Amino acid sequence: MDLTLSGEHETLRATVEDFARKEVAPVIGEFYERGEFPYEIVAKMGAMGLFGLPFDEEHGGMGGDYFALCLALEELARVDSSVAITLEAGVSLGAMPIYRFGSEEQKREWLPALVAGERLGAFGLTEPGGGSDAGATRTTARLDGDEWVINGSKAFITNSGTDITSVVTVTAITGGTDAAGRREISAIMVPAGTPGFRVSQKYSKVGWSASDTRELFFDDCRVPAGNLLGQRGRGYAQFLSILDEGRIAIAALSVGLAQGCVDESVRYAHEREAFGRPIGSYQAIQFKIADMEARAHTARLAYYAAAAKMLAGEPFKKEAAIAKLVASNAAMDNARDATQVFGGYGFMNEYPVGRFYRDAKILEIGEGTSEVQRMLIARQLGL
Ligand SMILES: Cc1cc2nc3c(=O)[nH]c(=O)nc-3n(C[C@H](O)[C@H](O)[C@H](O)COP(=O)(O)OP(=O)(O)OC[C@H]3O[C@@H](n4cnc5c(N)ncnc54)[C@H](O)[C@@H]3O)c2cc1C
Repeated sequence: MDLTLSGEHETLRATVEDFARKEVAPVIGEFYERGEFPYEIVAKMGAMGLFGLPFDEEHGGMGGDYFALCLALEELARVDSSVAITLEAGVSLGAMPIYRFGSEEQKREWLPALVAGERLGAFGLTEPGGGSDAGATRTTARLDGDEWVINGSKAFITNSGTDITSVVTVTAITGGTDAAGRREISAIMVPAGTPGFRVSQKYSKVGWSASDTRELFFDDCRVPAGNLLGQRGRGYAQFLSILDEGRIAIAALSVGLAQGCVDESVRYAHEREAFGRPIGSYQAIQFKIADMEARAHTARLAYYAAAAKMLAGEPFKKEAAIAKLVASNAAMDNARDATQVFGGYGFMNEYPVGRFYRDAKILEIGEGTSEVQRMLIARQLGL
């Protein structure tokens, strides 16, 4: 049993930590305030190879593993979550479905630019009518000769409308119901700019303000029959397996936010004085920060454990759900406490903790709400 990072993992972690502090921290607040997508930072992350971390070298990747991606996400989110979710969604939701389920021809066509971070892919499962019950998809795709004709809409899709978005993979109903009452749902790749595929204006969001989230509309949108990803009728199952992995990544991102709250609070507790002493000398503040550190630490162990099972090829559904549940809770609790440590300044946008506070809530919602994680855990317990 060894929780020490390997030399390669530690080098990556330290490199991303340095990048986040030097290149992201000084500028991201302004992008956030303007609600602007940080193309320059994304280009730098691409040049560093972060978008290629878990992919093999044959497809342009760095030959690393999924845990490497998680470490990078944790270090980025210690400083900023918009940048971290752009990487998370680009890799684990955009490129990964093509890598896992695509034909060799599809991989050669789409992966090189996605893996280099020059283009972004997106993943369209959620619809305006519901996300938790994603099997209730209403979007349809019917074959007309050698083309799919897609109609419907998707809601809250990350990375779907940037200037560098190249493809959105969507789930759609492609047939009738089987004997068990399950509808035939398939995954289909829709290149950006396809006629009939419209991307809405960006949502005005509570947090993740420098990331790209849009509603998508498909109106007799035609794509080649060859854009089917994986097996016809397996689209929903494929997306669920992608979400199992994605939960470990979101847990890592949550741990980063939780740890960023500790970093900022310790620094501020030394600097800020009240009643003639640094606030860090008061036990009430010390205990608050000690609890924050304990939450970040235990949540980190939870995602390390889930990642270890995944990399060992063992079932990891329950561990991934536990990691996502506890880490998103830790992020939310730490963001609330860090804001309290900062007092009035915690409510000001000039300090990162204000951003952490706004960014924490979505972690209990995206890629499966906390209720959905509990449903998954209970199901794994046979309930
Ligand atoms: C910023 C952002 C980015 C996102 N990016 C993407 C993306 O890239 N791709 C994508 O496909 N989706 C994306 N999503 C969608 C996200 O995954 C969904 O919002 C989420 O899964 C919840 O779905 P919903 O919003 O429809 O809530 P609903 O499913 O309507 O749930 C509403 C409430 O009911 C609860 N609930 C639902 N069913 C049950 C039940 N059976 N038992 C108990 N409680 C229940 C939920 O937990 C929740 O509290 C994103 C969302 C946001 C906000």
